[in-house]
Amino acid sequence: MRAAEILSHLDRMYPNATCALNHRTPWELLVATILSAQCTDKRVNEVTPGLFAQYPTPWDFAAVPTEVLARDIRSTGFFNNKAKSLVGAAQRVVKEYGGEVPKTMEEMLSIPGAARKTANVVLGTAYGIAAGIVVDTHVARISRRLDLTVNTDPVRIEQDLMEIVPEPRWILFSHQLIAHGRALCMARAPECEQCELNALCYAEDKRA
Ligand code: SF4
Repeated sequence: MRAAEILSHLDRMYPNATCALNHRTPWELLVATILSAQCTDKRVNEVTPGLFAQYPTPWDFAAVPTEVLARDIRSTGFFNNKAKSLVGAAQRVVKEYGGEVPKTMEEMLSIPGAARKTANVVLGTAYGIAAGIVVDTHVARISRRLDLTVNTDPVRIEQDLMEIVPEPRWILFSHQLIAHGRALCMARAPECEQCELNALCYAEDKRA
């Protein structure tokens, strides 16, 4: 009941919430999601157009030396690890899946650099497949603030959310919480006075 109320407020507040990472294909979304670790979506969106012009397909990523790719993605941070993940992911996608990003959680998790969060982003946004719920820092924080979970581990948070949120809502729900985390429910200074969820929120760090 309370969860249903939260969902209907989120629908009013963020009816069109969607993924902020620009992409044209599932592969491009996988690349952008790997790059987005510890980096803003804005910065990733600045880097990817040039990157995809230089390396248009998974085959191009699979063939580039890691140290060369690391230079091209330097501004996203953690570039050595990300370059290793991207080349590894490309090689697996090319060798095992004929250049197509796979469509199941199990297959996605076999791709270097893709944990559940990345897999959920790609499956949900690129393919519309609700295999789970994306749990990033915003989803984790707001789910705890709204008592949808008491856990801190993303996998356990995701399990809690999957029990509370109806499956047809899984993809939109995480987009909405991420939008809320950026617009009002920030980590340090949430703007609770403007939040429609205020009456339903008992967060200790609420500011109103
Ligand atoms: S009332 Fe404040 S802490 Fe609670 S969900 Fe809204 S913005 Fe976040």
